[in-house]
Amino acid sequence: MTDVGRLRADFPILRTEVRGKPLVYLDNAATTQKPKIVIDAIGRYYEEQNSNVHRGVHHLSELATKLYEDARVRTARFLNAADPREIVFVRGATEAINLVAQSFVRPRLRSEDEVLVTHMEHHSNIVPWQLLPAVLRVAPIDDAGDLVLEKFEEMISERTRFVAVTHVSNALGTVNPVKRIVEMAHARGVPVLVDGAQAVPHMPVDVRDLGCDFYVFSGHKIYGPTGVGALYARLPLLESMPPYQSGGDMILSVSFEKTIFNHVPHRFEAGTPNIEGVIGLGAAIDYVRGAGLDAIAAHERDLMDYATGVLSRVKSLRIVGTAREKAGAISFVLDGVHPHDVGTILDREGIAIRTGHHCAQPVMERFGLAATARASFALYNTREEIDALAAGLRRVVEVFRA
Ligand code: PMP
Repeated sequence: MTDVGRLRADFPILRTEVRGKPLVYLDNAATTQKPKIVIDAIGRYYEEQNSNVHRGVHHLSELATKLYEDARVRTARFLNAADPREIVFVRGATEAINLVAQSFVRPRLRSEDEVLVTHMEHHSNIVPWQLLPAVLRVAPIDDAGDLVLEKFEEMISERTRFVAVTHVSNALGTVNPVKRIVEMAHARGVPVLVDGAQAVPHMPVDVRDLGCDFYVFSGHKIYGPTGVGALYARLPLLESMPPYQSGGDMILSVSFEKTIFNHVPHRFEAGTPNIEGVIGLGAAIDYVRGAGLDAIAAHERDLMDYATGVLSRVKSLRIVGTAREKAGAISFVLDGVHPHDVGTILDREGIAIRTGHHCAQPVMERFGLAATARASFALYNTREEIDALAAGLRRVVEVFRA
């Protein structure tokens, strides 16, 4: 188990008060708070190391390049990728999915080809596929929020050109059996992208064990900065892909007659990258590895079980999403109270949760709801914070009963 008290001390923002109350931050699926070592790594970069990367021969440029490339090695190790060249730094999960849609899938599409997703995807894993000239097929989920695996398998046909599934649902907390999904797709020769935005903060991820072709995540959901994320792609696939964006750094030579593109992964990192973001992401990865992903997973398992029990006992509360395996988030509704009102009343007590459709409107539609309230957890949350949430929710119920 983690020593939560010690870990909490690493996050300066957790010492702040909101409206005179200690902050209870339960909106971690939207973005996580940042430990001091991430904040310091970014500060140190600007105070002592700032320079452009892959360009100069001077000391600072070499230093910044080394820090940037070290972060790539650490990201590759974090996902157990075979080679650091399989890691492309991007703005986040959203950009990574767009990159794969445009550079890998689009050139391979023939007329009437299909892209298969699930009903529990985030908008970022729906809309990029809708921009392609392909038919979007949607594998159903059941009333618990589990993927109907037999149906998913049936839907893989000769027309299926690509499969894109989330590892963990941000709206329901469902953990998908991605290894099994990859096996099913690969049995039909179909490549698979896994959206790991909500998985990497909560469990160890091994892309080679999963067998997936692409894996994407965002830095800000794993205690790193915003505006940075990573795409993992198997090397032969990445090498087969044309550039996504073009400009500086992604070329070996340019003339008006002929431009030669750079090797992977630089071919996909056009322009000056988010250097401080990448360095901050490297620090965040060191941080979670230091805390231990198995220990984080065990602590959060306890929080999820505890919260499920405590919230179930709040009168007129219904948990939305009761999948066999869940991680990170619990969605719920209170009878007769709009989720936005729940969020606003809790905010007065310093408790931050998310309310709305969570960028997963098809999930809301599947459960006949416009919105839910969602509490989502991180390594620094405690049972006491969950008790505070439950007490706040009881007050919400009283306000609306009065
Ligand atoms: N996929 C999932 C499952 C998510 O939860 C999110 C963020 N809420 C994204 C993709 C998109 O991440 P970002 O906005 O950081 O690109």
